[in-house]
Amino acid sequence: MFIMIGAGSGHRKKAYLGVRVCPHCGKLSHFYLVEQAQQVSVFFVPVVRWGKHWGIACSRCKAGFEIAENEKEFCLKQAQWMPSEKQMNEVIEYLGVQLQSGEVPDFETLRERVRLRFDFHVDDRSLQEMIKGLRQAADQASQFRQFY
Ligand SMILES: [Zn+2]
Repeated sequence: MFIMIGAGSGHRKKAYLGVRVCPHCGKLSHFYLVEQAQQVSVFFVPVVRWGKHWGIACSRCKAGFEIAENEKEFCLKQAQWMPSEKQMNEVIEYLGVQLQSGEVPDFETLRERVRLRFDFHVDDRSLQEMIKGLRQAADQASQFRQFY
């Protein structure tokens, strides 16, 4: 009988932590609490895992930083109140349209519009980062013009 066994390090996304402009890739990204461990897999299914450690990582570039056990608990608590990645994408899309409309709404105005538009709560920090990320992207796009 043929059995496929693999060994190495594996990771699992454990909780969604919201949106930030990533310090590593510079893009507006979703961040996750990630568990990393050494593992042995049989037919690609992990059967033994050890040496676990935890980190917060960007889902776009996969870069992140390690955190301690007590910080992990804090992240898990925060994640309970976090909307899903899909819901956050809807907010990003909505804000993108708001910011392209020509007017320059301030943070309070945008927060109020998001509050009225969506039936879930978006934390202020994620909201600030979305606006920052979208404005940065718009600035970069505006520097592009027909060159030749
Ligand atoms: Zn990144």
